[in-house]
Formats: sequence, structure tokens, C-alpha cells
Amino acid sequence: MPLSATYRVENGQLIGARQIASPNYNQRPESAEIQLIVVHNISLPPSQFGGGYIEQFFQNQLDWSLHPYFQTIEGMQVSAHLLILRTGEVIQFVNFHDRAWHAGRSSYLAQVECNDYSIGIELEGSDDLPFEEIQYQALAKITAVLQQSYPKIQQHIAGHSDIARGRKTDPGSFFQWPYFRQLLNAKKM
Ligand SMILES: [Zn+2]
Repeated sequence: MPLSATYRVENGQLIGARQIASPNYNQRPESAEIQLIVVHNISLPPSQFGGGYIEQFFQNQLDWSLHPYFQTIEGMQVSAHLLILRTGEVIQFVNFHDRAWHAGRSSYLAQVECNDYSIGIELEGSDDLPFEEIQYQALAKITAVLQQSYPKIQQHIAGHSDIARGRKTDPGSFFQWPYFRQLLNAKKM
């Protein structure tokens, strides 16, 4: 099903994605316009996939006692607009009109606070493992749709490590930027 999924944006919602509401968001500053996509990876516990823990984490419903790693992130309130699972399924947690909490202290082309003006997309993955082909397909499809809906994004697509240098490493060296760009360009032809 995810392979054939088509997406479109309506009122800040990605139609075609599963919707799960995260409480971890606030308003974008009034002057802020969406002009950047930030690509991340996340897995809970690290490098383990499935289990639904990321979804629980973004809803502040993760049981911290289930795994020693969870205790190291206990109480953190974070979110991303979108999560792309290993299966290619896409989940939206925060409306694009709202400010999700994914970037932290950050800057892109000398503009600080990337959360104010970006859309955060998490790939279920880790810095140590290749991503799934179906995740690249979904990411390219969604990016093309977002570029159309929010034209200021243009080619402004960055990794978390690019906007928080020295602090963050994701999406990591296994994320194939050239391949992703190639898929994205093919979508626009
Ligand atoms: Zn990140």
C-alpha cells in the first residue's frame, strides 16, 4: 500500500499519511514561512526497528522503564512533522502550520531556530545502518509534494547534522543524498 500511496497537502495536513497527534508543538512565529526540510533519523531503542516506541515517544506516552536507553531520554518532549517507518508508512504528528520540536539549537544559512521555519521528517533508522529503498521512495514523493505546497523550500533540504554541526550526526553517513536528489529530480520531470 505505501508504494502506491499518493500524497497531497490540505490545510497543513498530509493526506495519505496516518495521523497521530503529538502534543509537542507550538505556533510558528507570525513572520515565519516554511522554507526548509530537515531530514533526521531515529530508532528506539537505537538501531532497533518496529515496536511503536517512536510513536509513543512523540506522544509523551513512552514507558521509560521498558529499556535502559529509554531512561536516558526520559521526560524529553520532542516531535517531528513526519515519520517514515521502515515499511514506508508515513505518519504525521504535527500540522505543517505548527512548529514541531525536532531541530533544537540550530541554524541554516545564518538563520537560527530552524524549528520556526522548517518541516522535520524523521526516517526510522540509525547512523549505522542503510535505509530502506521504500523510505527513499516515500521521502522523495513527500518532498516533491511539500516543495509544491511550500514553494519557498525550493532546494533547501538539510540533514539535522548540517544545521546542528558538532551536536547532531543524523541522518548519518548511510543516508544517500545523491540517490535521494536523483529520485526527487525524477519526480519533477
Ligand atoms: Zn535529528
